[in-house]
Amino acid sequence: MKEQYTFISLTEAHEKIKHDCFRSRKYAVLTADDGYKSLLSILPWLNEQKIPITLFVNPRYWDGLSWSEINEEQSRRVKSDVDMLTEVCPDLYLTREQLQQIASSPLVTLGLHGYEHFDATKMSLSEFTDNVQQCRDSICDMEGYVPYMAYTWGRHNGSTDSILRKLNIVPVLVNGTDNYNNSDYIDRVAIDGKRL
Ligand SMILES: [Zn+2]
Repeated sequence: MKEQYTFISLTEAHEKIKHDCFRSRKYAVLTADDGYKSLLSILPWLNEQKIPITLFVNPRYWDGLSWSEINEEQSRRVKSDVDMLTEVCPDLYLTREQLQQIASSPLVTLGLHGYEHFDATKMSLSEFTDNVQQCRDSICDMEGYVPYMAYTWGRHNGSTDSILRKLNIVPVLVNGTDNYNNSDYIDRVAIDGKRL
């Protein structure tokens, strides 16, 4: 990908799209959702390659004290009586401390992915607003925070978008449902409804 694209940060990409100027190069933005511990194995290499990355995280799961239903479902498929708290979470999610350490690199930024990994379109609008605010309150004081939100599974609608805009948060990667269902799907509506 480095041969074809110049990797830039999400913030730089947003600036480029806002000004909509002619671009002679192709750009790519790297992001990762959910704050999994497995990121630790690739971050040093990305750093070496000077590739920026934005991590979209769910603060409720930091420190492994709670977990997403989808992770429980996946774990139970492997072992039906699994104890999430002791057997899965310690190896699955990054701790707050680890995230802080990771985000001290100028190449790493932290964005919002909901306080919990819930489908935005299945919550009431007030639940969604509270969820996003709680997520933001947990992250906004951390180094590397950027006011962008990747919806879980990219599921959103006009009402959730307008709530984010009122909170001065930019929705990104908003057609994730297509992406999630089709592993070869690459035509993402990238940032705030526009393509990079
Ligand atoms: Zn996710």
